[in-house]
Amino acid sequence: MKTIGLIGGMSWESTAHYYRVLNQETARQLGGLHSAPLIVHSVDFAPIAAMQSAGDWDGAGRQLHQVARGLAAAGAQVLGLATNTMHVVADTITQGLDIPFIHIADPTADALLADGFDSIGLLGTRFTMEMDFYRKRLEARGLTVLIPDVDRTNLNAIIYEELCHGMVTERSRDAYIAAIARLQQHGAQAVILGCTEICMLIDDSVSPLPTYDTTDLHAKALVAAALA
Ligand code: GLU
Repeated sequence: MKTIGLIGGMSWESTAHYYRVLNQETARQLGGLHSAPLIVHSVDFAPIAAMQSAGDWDGAGRQLHQVARGLAAAGAQVLGLATNTMHVVADTITQGLDIPFIHIADPTADALLADGFDSIGLLGTRFTMEMDFYRKRLEARGLTVLIPDVDRTNLNAIIYEELCHGMVTERSRDAYIAAIARLQQHGAQAVILGCTEICMLIDDSVSPLPTYDTTDLHAKALVAAALA
């Protein structure tokens, strides 16, 4: 099995989920005491989040590119970035690297298409919902992508002010359930949990639509790539 390099810390709460799924999936595939050969570089999220707010995507991309190079130099043979939002600078991060990069939107699109869905809702940070880097990649696969028409500021704030601090409240869960119900009314057949922390709040047991959790799908795709 190849060594997985993971750029994490955005936030560390979701990187902890990745760590668990990467190891559980490896054990499921290989059995026994197998666990994932893994190098995690968990960044300090505060300066990255500040660059997001300032729109300094180039600066954030350059910093994460250095992290990616460090992981490759340390022996990573497959690379993952444990946040949907920062895939906005995926091209900068992976520039000149000769190890495969597993884009978080790809296993998500694979799973939706395999299950026969073509019209889907997308929840995530306001960057992921409102910028086109994520939506375009899904649309290129033939998916119609809907984002919430109201309450996006609140849905975004719940991620940064609560979930990234490990806080889970019923009030915020209700806000996400309401957003999913509206997406359903507008024609979505399923919903992408397109932020790696949303799985702390929402799963199939509470969602009006089937959920596609990017954290889980991405971590499993990284294991598959490492085993290929
Ligand atoms: N982890 C989140 C995501 O998947 C949000 C934090 C970030 O902005 O990177 O988009």
